[in-house]
Amino acid sequence: MSSPASKTALVTGASRGIGRAIALELAQSGAHVLVHYRTGVAEAEAVAGTIRDSGGHADVVGADLATPDGPHALAARVREIVGDRLDILVANAGISKAATIEDTTVADFDRLFAVNVRAPFFLVQQLLPLLGERSSVILLSSAVARTAIGTLAAYAATKGAIDTLVRHFAQGLGARGIRVNAVAPGVVDTDMSSFTKSETGRQVTLAMQALKRIAQPDDIAGSVAFLASDEARWITGHTLSVDGGSKL
Ligand code: NAP
Repeated sequence: MSSPASKTALVTGASRGIGRAIALELAQSGAHVLVHYRTGVAEAEAVAGTIRDSGGHADVVGADLATPDGPHALAARVREIVGDRLDILVANAGISKAATIEDTTVADFDRLFAVNVRAPFFLVQQLLPLLGERSSVILLSSAVARTAIGTLAAYAATKGAIDTLVRHFAQGLGARGIRVNAVAPGVVDTDMSSFTKSETGRQVTLAMQALKRIAQPDDIAGSVAFLASDEARWITGHTLSVDGGSKL
């Protein structure tokens, strides 16, 4: 790992949870990783420190992706660090909110779509000058885009939008040699799915999965690293379920 990193990668929302695991996994495979955060600067620095301690290359980049110009600011910062080439973009940062249809507010709905859909869209747009032949874009979908679990209608709709974007981006960018895919986790043990910490939440989760354990963030990271790798060079426009067989 002491040789210069061969690929550059941006992972949004890499200060914790699934994004953190993805950043560590990509660094393990030799990429120079830009660890993005919004509020968790100390956590992001710790992730970058772990990568550097293992002989890898990492930088941290902060941006609030809920704001209209957040993706533009982040892309400008990425360009300053990596120059004109980004090999891997993982648009992982996301928020969720459980609410019944009656209790969902306009503000919550707009924020969910701003962070989960608008930001990935414009991040891809703004980073296009850096993406090229053999670049890989990976978006984060969710099992709830294909199955109605919990009181998550608005959140689930953002992930349905991601599945749609994957196809249109893949079609639109394929001629440039850019692949675009998504991974769709089921329930993963992170701050977002904190109900897995309760015995009831744990039992509900296990009951809907073929594989009987609670997923950890690194159960997702390997699939992202695979899609980012040249082993997946003929896969594009695909959403890969990485959910232990949820709601089969
Ligand atoms: P998490 O633990 O809650 O972490 C969320 C990450 O997103 C943090 O790094 C956070 O940054 C960042 N973030 C949140 N709001 C942001 C904003 N406005 N601007 C920029 N960054 C922001 O979430 P997770 O469970 O790892 O989820 C990661 C992705 O997987 C999300 O897209 C989620 O929808 C998807 N997913 C999760 C599950 C699950 O069960 N956990 C299942 C299916 C899909 P800071 O902490 O630095 O503020």
